[in-house]
Amino acid sequence: MGEIVIRAFRVSGYVPGPCSKCGKEERGLVMFEDYALGWECLACGELGHADRVEWIEGKDTALADLEDAEDE
Ligand SMILES: [Zn+2]
Repeated sequence: MGEIVIRAFRVSGYVPGPCSKCGKEERGLVMFEDYALGWECLACGELGHADRVEWIEGKDTALADLEDAEDE
């Protein structure tokens, strides 16, 4: 059985990559009651567990896009 590793932005908690159920890239990091980490889809509510989180340092690209739009 392979280890499930997800990547998440440390600052925003955004988890890049498509939801396994609806395919939208709107996943956020969640912590379950047993302190296990995983992701939750903000579009359809699907949950997934992760054995390990690979943290991404720096700015979330989605947030960076928003900031760019505000400058115009
Ligand atoms: Zn989904």
